Amino acid sequence: MLQRLLIYIIFLFFIASNANAQVIEVGLFTYKSMKKVMVIAETDSYIIYGDGIRLSELLQFEGMRIEYIEGKVAIRSLSNDYGSYKEVEFRAQTQTSTLTIKGIESKTNEREYNNHLKISVFAKSLQLINIVNIENYVGGVVEAETGKNRPYEFYKVQSIISRTYALANFNRHEGEGFQLCDAVHCQVYHGLSRYEKLIPKAVLSTEGIVLVNSDIELITAAFSSNCGGKTRNSEDVWSKKVSYLKSRPDTFCLDGKHAQWTKTISISEWKKYEEKAHFTPLQASNGKGSMIMDDSYSEFIFNKNDLVAIRRDFGFKSTRFVMEKKNDSIIFIGRGFGHGVGLCQEGAIKMGGKGYSYKEILESYYTDIHLIQLSSLNFFKSE
Ligand SMILES: [Zn+2]
Ligand SMILES: [Zn+2]
Repeated sequence: MLQRLLIYIIFLFFIASNANAQVIEVGLFTYKSMKKVMVIAETDSYIIYGDGIRLSELLQFEGMRIEYIEGKVAIRSLSNDYGSYKEVEFRAQTQTSTLTIKGIESKTNEREYNNHLKISVFAKSLQLINIVNIENYVGGVVEAETGKNRPYEFYKVQSIISRTYALANFNRHEGEGFQLCDAVHCQVYHGLSRYEKLIPKAVLSTEGIVLVNSDIELITAAFSSNCGGKTRNSEDVWSKKVSYLKSRPDTFCLDGKHAQWTKTISISEWKKYEEKAHFTPLQASNGKGSMIMDDSYSEFIFNKNDLVAIRRDFGFKSTRFVMEKKNDSIIFIGRGFGHGVGLCQEGAIKMGGKGYSYKEILESYYTDIHLIQLSSLNFFKSE
């Protein structure tokens, strides 16, 4: 109780002083080979540097062509060839500057980014790194991971989760020249948020807020699409027991889009799979022993690893299912979509729509967590 009070006081104290914005280096198009791109200044001008030396100013709506040539980054405009460098930088002149990156040849959509861009060479292609204010980055992630037309409180929830994740995983790409990639491996990020007006608002209204456990450490804010009516303990899905990732019932997601699924597989196909799979035997809930097909209905219990393999091999939405025999087929009747640990997105969307606050939503999915300002977290660390 005392600890909570202390955190709250410090929270109030620091809430107004979160001015020093954190910057993050995000590797762009990390799973593609980019050899030629266009960079266009969108909102105002950028200063261009080649190996630290000022080359030119890129005025609003002007573009530069960047190309991988013989191990270097070559840069030229319509009228000028600026030569080749180990590293080319586009430095923003204001906090709100944006630029567009457009792949030439490789068919990538053009994407718009906030703040700075650094281009170097990696594995015979261009390595593009967006040096971006974390709040701008969070907006982009929330849009890419959740889409449009969600409740405002839900966008706040996702903003806090995404910010916490980014800060807890700063070293994920250590040695590669950037901190996080822009793909599912880290968090999907396709540039700034531009289709949903509520997202930048939600990011701003939760600026700097992150989630910590009772030891004031950033949490692994796991989430999945739909938990199927009950979230799961982290140790039941992964190997590690985590104090804040505890199973709890969830009635909010029961009529969600991914609450239920079915898939039919022929008995002969399943038998073949079963022979190859060598399941670890476990007692079935009906007491008859697993792997024996009941004539009417039976619930099978599989080993955790077997379940993960079955889900992967048949493309099921979750590992939570029962099997029902019907003629010469087995019907898999499943619940939920994803691993089911931590926050359930469809449940959280429903809660947001019903008027629950982002704090209430987060506290209902993560056990014994605190919301805290990043600056006060740094304060705790330095103590
Ligand atoms: Zn990554
Ligand atoms: Zn749920």
